[in-house]
Amino acid sequence: MGIKCNFVCPGCGYIAKEVSGGLGFGMITVVRTMTCEDCKAVVDVGIGRNGKDGPTGDPNYDYPSTCPQCRGSRFYPWPSTHPCPKCDAKMIKDKTSTLCWD
Ligand SMILES: [Zn+2]
Ligand SMILES: [Zn+2]
Repeated sequence: MGIKCNFVCPGCGYIAKEVSGGLGFGMITVVRTMTCEDCKAVVDVGIGRNGKDGPTGDPNYDYPSTCPQCRGSRFYPWPSTHPCPKCDAKMIKDKTSTLCWD
C-alpha cells in the first residue's frame, strides 16, 4: 500500500496534499511524487503498473500521468530532501494528516 502525507512548507506556507513523498505502490499502479514544472506543484503522478514503466493502456487502472492542477506533463522527480518548489525551503511532513501512518 502507498502512504500519503501532507507536506507543509515552513517558508511560504505551501502545502503538498496527500503525496507519497517518493515512490509509492498502490494496489495496481505505481506513483511517484514529482514537481510540476509548469505550476510548481508537488503532485503524485502515475508512472506504471506493478513496477513496470509506462502506462497500462487501461483507463480503469492508469493513475493520471498529468498534473492534477494544470494538466501539464512536464515533471521532474521531487528530491528526497523535499524542497519547496516555490521557495526552496525544506518541506516538513505533516504528521497530523489523515492518511499518514508511518
Ligand atoms: Zn515554500
Ligand atoms: Zn502543474
